[in-house]
Amino acid sequence: MGKPTGFKEFERKEVPYRNAKMRLQDFNEIYTPSAEEPLRTQGARCMDCGVPFCQSGTGCPVENLIPEWNDLIYRGRWREALDRLHKTNNFPEFTGRVCPAPCEGACVLGVTEPPVTIKNIENAIIDRGFLEGWVEAAPPATRSGKRVAIVGSGPAGLAAAAQLNAVGHQITVYERADRIGGLLMYGIPNMKLDKTIVERRVQLLRDEGVKFITGANVGQDIDPLELREQNDALLLATGATVPRNLPIPGRELKGVHFAMEFLTANTKSLLDSKLADGRFISAKGKDVVVIGGGDTGADCIGTSLRHGCKSVVNFELLPQPPAQRASDNPWPQWPRVYRIDYSHRECIDTFGQDPRQYCILSKEFLDDGAGNLQGVRTVEVEWTKDETGRWSNTEKPGSEKIWKADLAFLSMGFLGPEQTVSDKLEISYDARGNYEAQYGRFATNVEGVFAAGDCRRGQSLVVWAINEGRGAARVVDQYLMGESVLPAPGVSMGTALAGA
Ligand SMILES: Cc1cc2nc3c(=O)[nH]c(=O)nc-3n(C[C@H](O)[C@H](O)[C@H](O)COP(=O)(O)OP(=O)(O)OC[C@H]3O[C@@H](n4cnc5c(N)ncnc54)[C@H](O)[C@@H]3O)c2cc1C
Ligand code: SF4
Repeated sequence: MGKPTGFKEFERKEVPYRNAKMRLQDFNEIYTPSAEEPLRTQGARCMDCGVPFCQSGTGCPVENLIPEWNDLIYRGRWREALDRLHKTNNFPEFTGRVCPAPCEGACVLGVTEPPVTIKNIENAIIDRGFLEGWVEAAPPATRSGKRVAIVGSGPAGLAAAAQLNAVGHQITVYERADRIGGLLMYGIPNMKLDKTIVERRVQLLRDEGVKFITGANVGQDIDPLELREQNDALLLATGATVPRNLPIPGRELKGVHFAMEFLTANTKSLLDSKLADGRFISAKGKDVVVIGGGDTGADCIGTSLRHGCKSVVNFELLPQPPAQRASDNPWPQWPRVYRIDYSHRECIDTFGQDPRQYCILSKEFLDDGAGNLQGVRTVEVEWTKDETGRWSNTEKPGSEKIWKADLAFLSMGFLGPEQTVSDKLEISYDARGNYEAQYGRFATNVEGVFAAGDCRRGQSLVVWAINEGRGAARVVDQYLMGESVLPAPGVSMGTALAGA
Protein backbone atom coordinates (compact mmCIF):
# COMPACT_ATOMS: atom_id res chain seq x y z
CA MET A 1 0.00 0.00 0.00
CA GLY A 2 1.58 3.22 -1.21
CA LYS A 3 0.41 5.78 1.33
CA PRO A 4 -1.65 4.54 4.27
CA THR A 5 -3.39 7.90 4.70
CA GLY A 6 -3.65 8.68 0.97
CA PHE A 7 -7.40 8.10 0.78
CA LYS A 8 -7.96 10.62 3.57
CA GLU A 9 -5.61 13.25 2.15
CA PHE A 10 -6.42 13.29 -1.55
CA GLU A 11 -9.63 13.71 -3.49
CA ARG A 12 -10.54 11.79 -6.64
CA LYS A 13 -9.45 13.74 -9.68
CA GLU A 14 -10.12 12.30 -13.12
CA VAL A 15 -7.93 12.95 -16.13
CA PRO A 16 -10.15 15.43 -18.04
CA TYR A 17 -11.45 15.04 -21.58
CA ARG A 18 -10.63 17.69 -24.18
CA ASN A 19 -12.91 20.74 -24.15
CA ALA A 20 -16.28 19.64 -25.60
CA LYS A 21 -16.61 22.44 -28.17
CA MET A 22 -13.04 21.96 -29.37
CA ARG A 23 -13.23 18.20 -29.69
CA LEU A 24 -16.42 18.45 -31.76
CA GLN A 25 -14.30 19.96 -34.54
CA ASP A 26 -12.64 16.61 -35.26
CA PHE A 27 -12.82 12.85 -34.80
CA ASN A 28 -9.62 12.70 -32.73
CA GLU A 29 -9.66 11.06 -29.31
CA ILE A 30 -11.49 12.93 -26.57
CA TYR A 31 -8.81 12.18 -23.94
CA THR A 32 -5.96 14.34 -22.68
CA PRO A 33 -2.63 12.97 -21.49
CA SER A 34 -1.93 13.11 -17.77
CA ALA A 35 1.24 14.24 -16.02
CA GLU A 36 2.87 11.65 -13.76
CA GLU A 37 2.41 13.38 -10.41
CA PRO A 38 -1.43 13.57 -10.38
CA LEU A 39 -1.58 9.86 -11.24
CA ARG A 40 0.77 8.98 -8.40
CA THR A 41 -1.51 10.94 -6.08
CA GLN A 42 -4.52 9.01 -7.35
CA GLY A 43 -2.61 5.72 -6.91
CA ALA A 44 -1.93 6.78 -3.31
CA ARG A 45 -5.70 6.81 -2.64
CA CYS A 46 -5.84 3.01 -3.05
CA MET A 47 -6.29 1.37 0.36
CA ASP A 48 -4.93 -2.05 -0.76
CA CYS A 49 -7.95 -3.69 0.86
CA GLY A 50 -7.69 -7.19 2.27
CA VAL A 51 -10.45 -8.21 -0.14
CA PRO A 52 -9.99 -6.08 -3.26
CA PHE A 53 -13.51 -6.17 -4.72
CA CYS A 54 -12.25 -4.04 -7.63
CA GLN A 55 -10.22 -6.89 -9.10
CA SER A 56 -12.64 -9.77 -8.79
CA GLY A 57 -16.27 -10.74 -8.40
CA THR A 58 -18.41 -7.80 -9.47
CA GLY A 59 -15.28 -5.75 -10.27
CA CYS A 60 -12.86 -6.17 -13.15
CA PRO A 61 -13.82 -9.11 -15.42
CA VAL A 62 -10.18 -9.81 -16.36
CA GLU A 63 -9.13 -9.51 -12.72
CA ASN A 64 -6.56 -6.84 -13.28
CA LEU A 65 -4.20 -6.74 -10.29
CA ILE A 66 -5.38 -3.26 -9.41
CA PRO A 67 -4.04 -2.63 -5.88
CA GLU A 68 -0.63 -3.95 -7.01
CA TRP A 69 -0.27 -1.53 -9.88
CA ASN A 70 -1.78 1.37 -7.92
CA ASP A 71 1.00 0.85 -5.41
CA LEU A 72 3.67 0.56 -8.11
CA ILE A 73 2.49 3.80 -9.73
CA TYR A 74 2.61 5.58 -6.39
CA ARG A 75 6.23 4.43 -6.10
CA GLY A 76 7.04 5.47 -9.69
CA ARG A 77 7.79 1.85 -10.79
CA TRP A 78 5.99 2.07 -14.14
CA ARG A 79 7.77 -0.76 -15.90
CA GLU A 80 6.77 -3.23 -13.20
CA ALA A 81 3.23 -1.87 -13.23
CA LEU A 82 3.09 -2.58 -16.96
CA ASP A 83 4.24 -6.17 -16.46
CA ARG A 84 1.57 -6.70 -13.79
CA LEU A 85 -1.07 -5.20 -16.10
CA HIS A 86 -0.16 -7.44 -19.05
CA LYS A 87 -0.40 -10.52 -16.83
CA THR A 88 -4.21 -10.30 -16.85
CA ASN A 89 -5.11 -8.07 -19.79
CA ASN A 90 -3.84 -8.47 -23.37
CA PHE A 91 -5.15 -5.08 -24.46
CA PRO A 92 -5.19 -2.49 -21.65
CA GLU A 93 -4.98 0.31 -24.22
CA PHE A 94 -8.52 -0.66 -25.30
CA THR A 95 -10.06 -1.13 -21.86
CA GLY A 96 -8.19 1.89 -20.46
CA ARG A 97 -10.06 3.96 -23.04
CA VAL A 98 -13.50 2.39 -23.42
CA CYS A 99 -14.23 0.20 -20.40
CA PRO A 100 -17.12 1.48 -18.25
CA ALA A 101 -14.94 0.46 -15.29
CA PRO A 102 -17.03 -1.89 -13.15
CA CYS A 103 -13.87 -2.00 -11.00
CA GLU A 104 -14.57 1.55 -9.86
CA GLY A 105 -18.16 0.64 -8.97
CA ALA A 106 -16.76 -2.11 -6.73
CA CYS A 107 -13.85 -0.10 -5.21
CA VAL A 108 -14.07 -0.30 -1.39
CA LEU A 109 -13.21 3.39 -1.08
CA GLY A 110 -16.38 3.98 -3.13
CA VAL A 111 -18.52 2.91 -0.13
CA THR A 112 -17.94 6.29 1.49
CA GLU A 113 -15.87 8.37 -0.96
CA PRO A 114 -15.49 8.68 -4.72
CA PRO A 115 -13.52 5.59 -5.89
CA VAL A 116 -9.92 5.44 -7.08
CA THR A 117 -9.47 6.51 -10.74
CA ILE A 118 -8.53 2.95 -11.73
CA LYS A 119 -9.29 3.24 -15.43
CA ASN A 120 -7.20 6.41 -15.85
CA ILE A 121 -4.27 4.70 -14.15
CA GLU A 122 -4.60 1.60 -16.35
CA ASN A 123 -4.60 3.74 -19.49
CA ALA A 124 -1.62 5.78 -18.33
CA ILE A 125 0.42 2.63 -17.60
CA ILE A 126 -0.06 1.16 -21.07
CA ASP A 127 0.34 4.49 -22.90
CA ARG A 128 3.61 5.03 -21.05
CA GLY A 129 4.64 1.46 -21.91
CA PHE A 130 4.21 2.13 -25.63
CA LEU A 131 5.87 5.55 -25.38
CA GLU A 132 8.93 4.09 -23.67
CA GLY A 133 9.16 1.22 -26.18
CA TRP A 134 8.53 -1.36 -23.45
CA VAL A 135 5.75 -3.10 -25.38
CA GLU A 136 7.46 -5.34 -27.91
CA ALA A 137 6.50 -8.35 -29.99
CA ALA A 138 7.37 -11.56 -28.14
CA PRO A 139 7.06 -14.48 -30.60
CA PRO A 140 6.98 -17.94 -29.01
CA ALA A 141 10.32 -19.73 -28.79
CA THR A 142 8.93 -22.97 -30.24
CA ARG A 143 5.91 -23.99 -32.31
CA SER A 144 3.55 -26.82 -31.33
CA GLY A 145 2.68 -27.87 -34.87
CA LYS A 146 -1.05 -27.37 -34.10
CA ARG A 147 -3.22 -25.08 -36.21
CA VAL A 148 -6.16 -23.07 -34.89
CA ALA A 149 -8.58 -21.00 -37.00
CA ILE A 150 -10.42 -18.13 -35.37
CA VAL A 151 -13.46 -16.59 -37.07
CA GLY A 152 -13.91 -12.92 -36.09
CA SER A 153 -11.26 -10.37 -35.13
CA GLY A 154 -12.99 -8.46 -32.32
CA PRO A 155 -11.48 -8.35 -28.81
CA ALA A 156 -12.54 -11.96 -28.11
CA GLY A 157 -10.87 -13.33 -31.25
CA LEU A 158 -7.78 -11.17 -30.76
CA ALA A 159 -7.33 -12.11 -27.09
CA ALA A 160 -7.65 -15.80 -27.94
CA ALA A 161 -5.19 -15.38 -30.83
CA ALA A 162 -2.65 -13.66 -28.57
CA GLN A 163 -2.88 -16.37 -25.89
CA LEU A 164 -2.85 -19.39 -28.23
CA ASN A 165 -0.01 -17.95 -30.28
CA ALA A 166 2.01 -17.36 -27.11
CA VAL A 167 1.99 -21.11 -26.40
CA GLY A 168 3.18 -21.92 -29.91
CA HIS A 169 0.06 -22.79 -31.93
CA GLN A 170 -0.22 -21.47 -35.47
CA ILE A 171 -3.17 -19.07 -35.48
CA THR A 172 -5.09 -17.74 -38.47
CA VAL A 173 -7.79 -15.14 -37.87
CA TYR A 174 -10.50 -14.83 -40.55
CA GLU A 175 -12.33 -11.50 -40.74
CA ARG A 176 -14.96 -10.54 -43.28
CA ALA A 177 -14.39 -6.79 -42.92
CA ASP A 178 -11.51 -5.04 -44.70
CA ARG A 179 -9.84 -4.15 -41.42
CA ILE A 180 -9.06 -6.15 -38.29
CA GLY A 181 -10.61 -5.33 -34.89
CA GLY A 182 -14.34 -6.12 -34.92
CA LEU A 183 -16.27 -3.45 -33.05
CA LEU A 184 -12.98 -1.98 -31.82
CA MET A 185 -12.47 -0.95 -35.45
CA TYR A 186 -15.93 -0.50 -36.95
CA GLY A 187 -18.25 0.00 -33.96
CA ILE A 188 -16.63 2.18 -31.32
CA PRO A 189 -15.95 5.53 -33.03
CA ASN A 190 -12.50 7.03 -33.49
CA MET A 191 -13.01 9.73 -30.85
CA LYS A 192 -13.37 7.01 -28.21
CA LEU A 193 -10.69 4.67 -29.57
CA ASP A 194 -8.29 5.89 -32.24
CA LYS A 195 -7.89 3.27 -34.94
CA THR A 196 -4.09 3.63 -34.97
CA ILE A 197 -4.22 2.22 -31.41
CA VAL A 198 -6.06 -0.87 -32.71
CA GLU A 199 -3.70 -1.24 -35.68
CA ARG A 200 -0.65 -0.91 -33.44
CA ARG A 201 -1.73 -3.93 -31.39
CA VAL A 202 -2.72 -5.94 -34.48
CA GLN A 203 0.75 -5.29 -35.93
CA LEU A 204 2.35 -6.60 -32.73
CA LEU A 205 0.29 -9.79 -33.05
CA ARG A 206 1.37 -10.09 -36.69
CA ASP A 207 5.00 -9.66 -35.62
CA GLU A 208 4.46 -12.44 -33.11
CA GLY A 209 3.30 -14.77 -35.89
CA VAL A 210 -0.51 -14.51 -35.96
CA LYS A 211 -1.89 -14.59 -39.52
CA PHE A 212 -4.81 -12.33 -40.40
CA ILE A 213 -7.01 -12.77 -43.47
CA THR A 214 -9.39 -9.89 -44.16
CA GLY A 215 -12.29 -9.89 -46.63
CA ALA A 216 -12.88 -13.53 -45.65
CA ASN A 217 -16.58 -14.10 -45.05
CA VAL A 218 -16.70 -17.56 -43.51
CA GLY A 219 -19.89 -19.34 -44.49
CA GLN A 220 -19.96 -17.44 -47.76
CA ASP A 221 -16.42 -17.34 -49.24
CA ILE A 222 -14.99 -20.08 -47.02
CA ASP A 223 -16.68 -23.31 -46.03
CA PRO A 224 -16.62 -23.59 -42.21
CA LEU A 225 -16.57 -27.41 -42.45
CA GLU A 226 -13.39 -27.26 -44.51
CA LEU A 227 -11.92 -24.75 -42.06
CA ARG A 228 -12.63 -27.20 -39.24
CA GLU A 229 -11.04 -30.06 -41.20
CA GLN A 230 -7.92 -28.08 -42.10
CA ASN A 231 -7.31 -27.03 -38.49
CA ASP A 232 -6.87 -28.82 -35.18
CA ALA A 233 -9.46 -26.55 -33.56
CA LEU A 234 -11.87 -23.80 -34.59
CA LEU A 235 -12.92 -20.86 -32.41
CA LEU A 236 -15.98 -18.81 -33.29
CA ALA A 237 -15.76 -15.19 -32.13
CA THR A 238 -18.23 -13.69 -34.56
CA GLY A 239 -19.90 -11.19 -32.22
CA ALA A 240 -23.58 -10.37 -31.69
CA THR A 241 -24.21 -8.68 -34.99
CA VAL A 242 -27.99 -8.97 -35.49
CA PRO A 243 -29.54 -5.63 -34.48
CA ARG A 244 -32.96 -5.34 -32.82
CA ASN A 245 -35.40 -3.82 -35.29
CA LEU A 246 -38.30 -1.43 -34.63
CA PRO A 247 -41.08 -2.70 -36.92
CA ILE A 248 -43.46 0.25 -36.56
CA PRO A 249 -45.25 1.95 -39.49
CA GLY A 250 -42.81 3.89 -41.68
CA ARG A 251 -39.77 1.70 -40.87
CA GLU A 252 -39.05 1.46 -44.62
CA LEU A 253 -38.74 5.24 -45.09
CA LYS A 254 -35.53 6.78 -46.39
CA GLY A 255 -33.63 8.16 -43.43
CA VAL A 256 -34.39 5.33 -40.96
CA HIS A 257 -31.22 3.30 -40.32
CA PHE A 258 -29.76 0.84 -37.90
CA ALA A 259 -27.13 2.62 -35.78
CA MET A 260 -24.37 0.38 -37.11
CA GLU A 261 -25.06 1.42 -40.72
CA PHE A 262 -24.29 4.97 -39.62
CA LEU A 263 -21.30 4.26 -37.36
CA THR A 264 -19.53 1.67 -39.52
CA ALA A 265 -19.74 3.70 -42.73
CA ASN A 266 -18.53 6.82 -40.93
CA THR A 267 -15.40 5.14 -39.56
CA LYS A 268 -14.63 3.44 -42.87
CA SER A 269 -14.95 6.69 -44.80
CA LEU A 270 -12.90 8.51 -42.14
CA LEU A 271 -10.09 5.95 -42.43
CA ASP A 272 -10.27 5.58 -46.23
CA SER A 273 -10.47 9.25 -47.15
CA LYS A 274 -10.97 11.50 -44.09
CA LEU A 275 -14.67 11.58 -45.08
CA ALA A 276 -13.82 12.99 -48.53
CA ASP A 277 -15.35 10.06 -50.45
CA GLY A 278 -18.84 10.90 -49.14
CA ARG A 279 -19.55 7.18 -48.59
CA PHE A 280 -21.30 7.67 -45.27
CA ILE A 281 -24.66 8.86 -43.97
CA SER A 282 -24.23 12.55 -43.28
CA ALA A 283 -26.15 14.19 -40.42
CA LYS A 284 -25.02 17.67 -41.48
CA GLY A 285 -27.87 20.16 -41.14
CA LYS A 286 -30.30 17.36 -40.23
CA ASP A 287 -32.71 16.84 -37.36
CA VAL A 288 -31.60 13.54 -35.84
CA VAL A 289 -33.51 11.15 -33.60
CA VAL A 290 -31.58 8.35 -31.88
CA ILE A 291 -33.85 5.60 -30.57
CA GLY A 292 -32.27 3.68 -27.70
CA GLY A 293 -29.43 4.55 -25.37
CA GLY A 294 -26.29 2.77 -24.22
CA ASP A 295 -22.88 3.16 -25.82
CA THR A 296 -24.24 2.79 -29.34
CA GLY A 297 -26.83 5.54 -28.86
CA ALA A 298 -24.22 7.83 -27.28
CA ASP A 299 -21.87 7.20 -30.21
CA CYS A 300 -24.60 8.08 -32.74
CA ILE A 301 -25.10 11.38 -30.89
CA GLY A 302 -21.35 12.13 -30.86
CA THR A 303 -21.01 11.31 -34.56
CA SER A 304 -24.08 13.37 -35.54
CA LEU A 305 -22.74 16.36 -33.61
CA ARG A 306 -19.37 16.08 -35.37
CA HIS A 307 -21.15 16.13 -38.73
CA GLY A 308 -22.88 19.38 -37.69
CA CYS A 309 -26.46 18.17 -37.21
CA LYS A 310 -29.20 20.77 -36.73
CA SER A 311 -30.62 19.01 -33.67
CA VAL A 312 -30.34 15.67 -31.92
CA VAL A 313 -32.69 13.97 -29.51
CA ASN A 314 -32.36 10.54 -27.89
CA PHE A 315 -35.41 8.49 -26.85
CA GLU A 316 -35.11 6.16 -23.90
CA LEU A 317 -38.00 3.85 -23.04
CA LEU A 318 -36.91 3.50 -19.42
CA PRO A 319 -37.16 6.24 -16.78
CA GLN A 320 -34.19 8.47 -15.92
CA PRO A 321 -31.91 6.59 -13.51
CA PRO A 322 -31.45 8.03 -10.01
CA ALA A 323 -28.54 10.37 -9.19
CA GLN A 324 -27.37 8.01 -6.43
CA ARG A 325 -27.52 4.21 -6.09
CA ALA A 326 -31.05 2.95 -5.36
CA SER A 327 -31.54 0.68 -2.32
CA ASP A 328 -31.85 -2.40 -4.60
CA ASN A 329 -28.51 -1.57 -6.26
CA PRO A 330 -26.01 -1.59 -3.39
CA TRP A 331 -22.20 -1.49 -3.51
CA PRO A 332 -20.28 -3.41 -4.93
CA GLN A 333 -22.73 -3.85 -7.82
CA TRP A 334 -22.35 -1.78 -10.97
CA PRO A 335 -24.07 1.52 -10.05
CA ARG A 336 -27.13 2.06 -12.24
CA VAL A 337 -27.11 5.84 -11.89
CA TYR A 338 -27.58 8.85 -14.15
CA ARG A 339 -24.35 9.54 -16.02
CA ILE A 340 -23.35 12.17 -18.52
CA ASP A 341 -21.37 10.42 -21.26
CA TYR A 342 -18.97 12.30 -23.55
CA SER A 343 -21.54 12.97 -26.26
CA HIS A 344 -24.25 14.07 -23.81
CA ARG A 345 -21.84 16.73 -22.54
CA GLU A 346 -21.09 17.77 -26.12
CA CYS A 347 -24.81 18.10 -26.81
CA ILE A 348 -25.39 20.16 -23.66
CA ASP A 349 -22.53 22.49 -24.65
CA THR A 350 -23.84 22.80 -28.23
CA PHE A 351 -27.61 23.00 -27.83
CA GLY A 352 -27.92 23.83 -24.13
CA GLN A 353 -29.68 20.59 -23.20
CA ASP A 354 -29.20 16.90 -22.57
CA PRO A 355 -30.41 15.01 -25.66
CA ARG A 356 -32.05 12.23 -23.61
CA GLN A 357 -35.82 12.06 -23.30
CA TYR A 358 -37.03 9.34 -20.95
CA CYS A 359 -40.16 7.15 -20.94
CA ILE A 360 -40.67 7.68 -24.68
CA LEU A 361 -42.20 5.01 -26.91
CA SER A 362 -41.87 5.46 -30.68
CA LYS A 363 -45.14 4.70 -32.50
CA GLU A 364 -44.60 5.72 -36.12
CA PHE A 365 -42.06 7.10 -38.58
CA LEU A 366 -43.76 9.85 -40.60
CA ASP A 367 -43.52 10.15 -44.38
CA ASP A 368 -42.97 13.48 -46.16
CA GLY A 369 -45.07 12.19 -49.05
CA ALA A 370 -42.03 11.23 -51.13
CA GLY A 371 -40.86 8.26 -49.08
CA ASN A 372 -38.52 10.27 -46.85
CA LEU A 373 -38.62 10.46 -43.08
CA GLN A 374 -39.94 13.77 -41.79
CA GLY A 375 -40.78 13.00 -38.19
CA VAL A 376 -41.40 10.48 -35.43
CA ARG A 377 -44.68 10.13 -33.52
CA THR A 378 -44.24 9.11 -29.90
CA VAL A 379 -46.16 8.67 -26.66
CA GLU A 380 -44.95 8.83 -23.09
CA VAL A 381 -45.14 5.71 -20.92
CA GLU A 382 -45.57 5.22 -17.19
CA TRP A 383 -43.70 2.42 -15.42
CA THR A 384 -45.23 0.47 -12.55
CA LYS A 385 -44.06 -2.47 -10.49
CA ASP A 386 -46.46 -5.32 -9.66
CA GLU A 387 -46.50 -7.32 -6.43
CA THR A 388 -43.94 -9.82 -7.83
CA GLY A 389 -41.51 -6.96 -8.51
CA ARG A 390 -41.95 -7.04 -12.31
CA TRP A 391 -41.94 -3.72 -14.13
CA SER A 392 -44.34 -2.95 -16.97
CA ASN A 393 -45.35 0.19 -18.82
CA THR A 394 -48.59 1.75 -19.99
CA GLU A 395 -49.08 4.58 -22.45
CA LYS A 396 -49.95 7.96 -20.90
CA PRO A 397 -53.19 9.31 -22.40
CA GLY A 398 -52.82 12.64 -24.22
CA SER A 399 -48.99 12.43 -24.30
CA GLU A 400 -48.64 11.99 -28.05
CA LYS A 401 -45.95 14.14 -29.66
CA ILE A 402 -44.47 14.62 -33.14
CA TRP A 403 -40.71 15.15 -33.36
CA LYS A 404 -39.19 16.61 -36.50
CA ALA A 405 -36.61 14.20 -37.95
CA ASP A 406 -34.68 13.74 -41.19
CA LEU A 407 -32.66 10.84 -39.78
CA ALA A 408 -33.52 8.18 -37.23
CA PHE A 409 -30.93 5.75 -35.88
CA LEU A 410 -32.10 2.53 -34.23
CA SER A 411 -29.89 1.68 -31.29
CA MET A 412 -31.91 -0.84 -29.32
CA GLY A 413 -29.31 -3.51 -28.82
CA PHE A 414 -28.41 -6.73 -30.58
CA LEU A 415 -30.28 -10.04 -30.69
CA GLY A 416 -27.28 -12.37 -31.05
CA PRO A 417 -24.96 -13.81 -33.69
CA GLU A 418 -25.82 -14.40 -37.33
CA GLN A 419 -26.36 -18.10 -38.01
CA THR A 420 -24.62 -18.64 -41.36
CA VAL A 421 -21.44 -20.18 -39.98
CA SER A 422 -23.13 -21.97 -37.08
CA ASP A 423 -25.92 -23.53 -39.17
CA LYS A 424 -23.36 -25.01 -41.57
CA LEU A 425 -21.45 -26.47 -38.63
CA GLU A 426 -24.72 -27.59 -36.95
CA ILE A 427 -23.97 -25.68 -33.76
CA SER A 428 -26.73 -25.63 -31.12
CA TYR A 429 -28.16 -22.37 -29.84
CA ASP A 430 -29.17 -21.37 -26.33
CA ALA A 431 -32.59 -19.95 -25.42
CA ARG A 432 -31.45 -16.43 -26.42
CA GLY A 433 -30.15 -17.50 -29.86
CA ASN A 434 -26.46 -17.37 -28.92
CA TYR A 435 -24.07 -20.23 -29.73
CA GLU A 436 -24.51 -22.73 -26.93
CA ALA A 437 -21.24 -23.26 -25.06
CA GLN A 438 -21.00 -23.18 -21.28
CA TYR A 439 -19.00 -20.33 -19.81
CA GLY A 440 -15.65 -21.69 -18.63
CA ARG A 441 -15.74 -24.61 -21.09
CA PHE A 442 -16.49 -22.62 -24.23
CA ALA A 443 -16.99 -25.88 -26.16
CA THR A 444 -19.94 -26.09 -28.56
CA ASN A 445 -21.79 -29.33 -29.33
CA VAL A 446 -19.43 -29.88 -32.29
CA GLU A 447 -16.13 -31.62 -31.54
CA GLY A 448 -13.20 -29.20 -31.71
CA VAL A 449 -15.37 -26.09 -32.21
CA PHE A 450 -15.39 -23.45 -29.45
CA ALA A 451 -17.15 -20.09 -29.02
CA ALA A 452 -16.24 -16.91 -27.12
CA GLY A 453 -17.32 -13.30 -26.76
CA ASP A 454 -20.60 -11.65 -27.72
CA CYS A 455 -21.61 -14.57 -30.01
CA ARG A 456 -21.69 -16.79 -26.90
CA ARG A 457 -22.71 -14.45 -24.06
CA GLY A 458 -24.80 -11.91 -26.00
CA GLN A 459 -23.93 -8.25 -26.45
CA SER A 460 -21.58 -7.18 -23.72
CA LEU A 461 -18.34 -5.27 -23.16
CA VAL A 462 -14.81 -5.24 -24.54
CA VAL A 463 -13.43 -6.39 -21.20
CA TRP A 464 -15.79 -9.39 -21.15
CA ALA A 465 -14.78 -10.28 -24.71
CA ILE A 466 -11.13 -10.26 -23.59
CA ASN A 467 -12.03 -12.42 -20.58
CA GLU A 468 -13.80 -14.94 -22.82
CA GLY A 469 -11.04 -14.95 -25.46
CA ARG A 470 -8.48 -15.71 -22.74
CA GLY A 471 -10.67 -18.38 -21.15
CA ALA A 472 -11.40 -20.04 -24.48
CA ALA A 473 -7.69 -20.03 -25.38
CA ARG A 474 -6.93 -22.03 -22.26
CA VAL A 475 -9.55 -24.71 -23.00
CA VAL A 476 -8.53 -24.90 -26.68
CA ASP A 477 -4.92 -25.38 -25.55
CA GLN A 478 -6.03 -28.12 -23.13
CA TYR A 479 -8.01 -29.76 -25.96
CA LEU A 480 -4.94 -29.74 -28.21
CA MET A 481 -2.23 -30.62 -25.70
CA GLY A 482 -4.03 -32.34 -22.81
CA GLU A 483 -2.94 -29.56 -20.42
CA SER A 484 -2.30 -25.82 -20.47
CA VAL A 485 -0.03 -23.30 -18.84
CA LEU A 486 -2.34 -20.47 -19.92
CA PRO A 487 -4.07 -18.73 -17.00
CA ALA A 488 -7.77 -19.23 -16.35
CA PRO A 489 -9.72 -16.11 -15.52
CA GLY A 490 -9.92 -17.31 -11.87
CA VAL A 491 -12.38 -16.13 -9.25
CA SER A 492 -14.71 -14.28 -11.60
CA MET A 493 -15.00 -17.49 -13.60
CA GLY A 494 -17.09 -18.76 -10.72
CA THR A 495 -19.07 -15.60 -10.08
CA ALA A 496 -19.63 -14.98 -13.77
CA LEU A 497 -20.96 -18.50 -14.23
CA ALA A 498 -24.08 -17.43 -12.42
CA GLY A 499 -24.71 -14.53 -14.76
CA ALA A 500 -23.23 -16.00 -17.92
C1 LIG B 1 -21.34 1.24 -31.21
C2 LIG B 1 -20.80 0.40 -30.11
C3 LIG B 1 -20.09 1.00 -29.10
C4 LIG B 1 -19.58 0.23 -28.06
N1 LIG B 1 -18.88 0.85 -27.09
C5 LIG B 1 -18.34 0.11 -26.10
C6 LIG B 1 -17.59 0.74 -25.07
O1 LIG B 1 -17.44 1.97 -25.04
N2 LIG B 1 -17.04 -0.06 -24.11
C7 LIG B 1 -17.18 -1.41 -24.12
O2 LIG B 1 -16.62 -2.10 -23.25
N3 LIG B 1 -17.91 -2.04 -25.06
C8 LIG B 1 -18.50 -1.30 -26.05
N4 LIG B 1 -19.24 -1.92 -27.01
C9 LIG B 1 -19.40 -3.41 -26.95
C10 LIG B 1 -18.12 -4.11 -27.48
O3 LIG B 1 -17.64 -3.46 -28.62
C11 LIG B 1 -18.41 -5.58 -27.76
O4 LIG B 1 -18.94 -6.18 -26.58
C12 LIG B 1 -17.15 -6.34 -28.16
O5 LIG B 1 -16.53 -5.75 -29.27
C13 LIG B 1 -17.48 -7.82 -28.48
O6 LIG B 1 -16.32 -8.44 -28.94
P1 LIG B 1 -16.36 -9.76 -29.83
O7 LIG B 1 -14.95 -10.05 -30.16
O8 LIG B 1 -17.18 -10.80 -29.16
O9 LIG B 1 -17.18 -9.37 -31.16
P2 LIG B 1 -17.04 -8.20 -32.22
O10 LIG B 1 -16.23 -7.07 -31.72
O11 LIG B 1 -18.44 -7.90 -32.64
O12 LIG B 1 -16.26 -8.87 -33.43
C14 LIG B 1 -16.83 -9.89 -34.20
C15 LIG B 1 -16.14 -9.91 -35.55
O13 LIG B 1 -16.52 -11.10 -36.24
C16 LIG B 1 -16.63 -10.80 -37.61
N5 LIG B 1 -17.45 -11.81 -38.24
C17 LIG B 1 -18.75 -12.13 -37.96
N6 LIG B 1 -19.16 -13.14 -38.76
C18 LIG B 1 -18.12 -13.45 -39.56
C19 LIG B 1 -17.95 -14.40 -40.60
N7 LIG B 1 -18.93 -15.21 -40.96
N8 LIG B 1 -16.75 -14.48 -41.23
C20 LIG B 1 -15.73 -13.66 -40.86
N9 LIG B 1 -15.84 -12.72 -39.88
C21 LIG B 1 -17.02 -12.62 -39.24
C22 LIG B 1 -17.28 -9.43 -37.62
O14 LIG B 1 -17.07 -8.77 -38.86
C23 LIG B 1 -16.53 -8.75 -36.47
O15 LIG B 1 -15.38 -8.11 -36.93
C24 LIG B 1 -19.79 -1.17 -28.05
C25 LIG B 1 -20.54 -1.78 -29.06
C26 LIG B 1 -21.05 -1.00 -30.08
C27 LIG B 1 -21.87 -1.66 -31.15
S1 SF4 C 1 -10.45 -3.48 -17.58
FE1 SF4 C 1 -12.24 -2.24 -16.97
S2 SF4 C 1 -12.90 -3.17 -15.04
FE2 SF4 C 1 -10.79 -3.92 -15.43
S3 SF4 C 1 -9.43 -2.44 -14.34
FE3 SF4 C 1 -9.66 -1.72 -16.46
S4 SF4 C 1 -11.33 -0.23 -16.36
FE4 SF4 C 1 -11.47 -1.50 -14.51
